[in-house]
Amino acid sequence: MAYGFDTLQVHAGARPDPATGARQTPIYQTTAYVFRDADHAAALFNLQEVGYIYSRLTNPTVAVLQERLAALEGGAGAVCCSSGHAAQIMALFPLMAPGRNIVASTRLYGGTVTQFSQTIKRFGWSATFVDFDDVEAVAAAIDDDTRAIFCESIANPGGYITDLDAISEVANKAGLPLIVDNTSATPYLCRPIEHGATLVVHSTTKYLTGNGTVTGGAVIDSGNFDWSASGKFPSLSEPEPAYHGLKFHETFGPLAYTFHGIAIGLRDLGMTMNPQAAHYTLMGIETLSLRMERHVENAKKVSQWLEKHDKIDAVTYAGLESSPYHDRVARICPKGAGGLFTIALKGGYEACVKFVDSLELFSHVANLGDTRSLVIHSASTTHRQLSPEQQKAAGAAPNVVRISIGIEDADDLIADLDQALEKAHG
Ligand SMILES: *Cc1c(COP(=O)(O)O)cnc(C)c1O
Repeated sequence: MAYGFDTLQVHAGARPDPATGARQTPIYQTTAYVFRDADHAAALFNLQEVGYIYSRLTNPTVAVLQERLAALEGGAGAVCCSSGHAAQIMALFPLMAPGRNIVASTRLYGGTVTQFSQTIKRFGWSATFVDFDDVEAVAAAIDDDTRAIFCESIANPGGYITDLDAISEVANKAGLPLIVDNTSATPYLCRPIEHGATLVVHSTTKYLTGNGTVTGGAVIDSGNFDWSASGKFPSLSEPEPAYHGLKFHETFGPLAYTFHGIAIGLRDLGMTMNPQAAHYTLMGIETLSLRMERHVENAKKVSQWLEKHDKIDAVTYAGLESSPYHDRVARICPKGAGGLFTIALKGGYEACVKFVDSLELFSHVANLGDTRSLVIHSASTTHRQLSPEQQKAAGAAPNVVRISIGIEDADDLIADLDQALEKAHG
């Protein structure tokens, strides 16, 4: 029988500990695992048997989280990583090679724009940034060296919703995998695989853990992509010299990408999630749907109040009827538009700085998706490295403040915003 989301968020991947009966998943704080004998060790190292060797590759606590995330996203398998940014590199690694490129949305988390426009060049990879509302421009940006399309479901920082159905059609036609960063939506609000995504990446640092305790990331594979069809993905379709010529796709079928992520990606890049982090994230995920419902309810109330305020020029929340993205909510994220949006303040940069300094309940931090309400002035912080054009395209112009609405009493949040707006313009 197929369980519902709320059941899966508590149970998927977990069972009472076989050694002790412990009901909660233990933190397996160990680096290595004893082999039954030399034959067992050889079979594990040859990938002929699945099991635990060394915690850079696999760990039982992390494995529970991987199974849970795969279940919640409706994927075949998942690989957890040390951060969201690590997950992005891990997601691209099996697909890319020097000279290859990705086509990416201009509306991305600021750190991702930097990673894709600067750092990946050191690997000989590159990114072409396009406005993903212009579907024809996305198609036109694809060339023979393109190996993936990348976007966010609910895009940071503005809370804009990407038309995943339209973008996945473009990716499909080009025979390319669509990678969706589902951090801001979580699988409770949006299930990208149902809209044609091949891979889903997460910063588990945010809503999945939910309380600002640990960094982490994950790559979830739909298991739906034919890695052998085009000859463009030799890491998955061709013989792998490090495993005696094993072909991942031929051998592991829909789990090829996940096995590659562990057996090659984690083994050689080492961007591994530790079992403590997995534990905190598992604790968080147990209440994901409850928290997301409150985040959405509060974001609606607060954004409606802000929209009417005379010191505010604009509120980007897609849950507002005035948003150009409002039409996409029912189709792409039917349980709500999330808890993240931006506001444009009258008075520009100066007013924004005064505003964030005057808030008492909201914290000014470089994080989002916490139970606590958070703000950040993106132009002076997360999006600081970007050019003015990039800032504007990303929804992080100097007069813009990003708001991550927590699960507190909405009235208290409104009162705090009210007094800070007063001070910012006083
Ligand atoms: C935070 C974030 C990331 C990066 O994740 P880290 O865990 O901070 O490395 C990537 N994408 C989005 C949408 C994010 O919010």
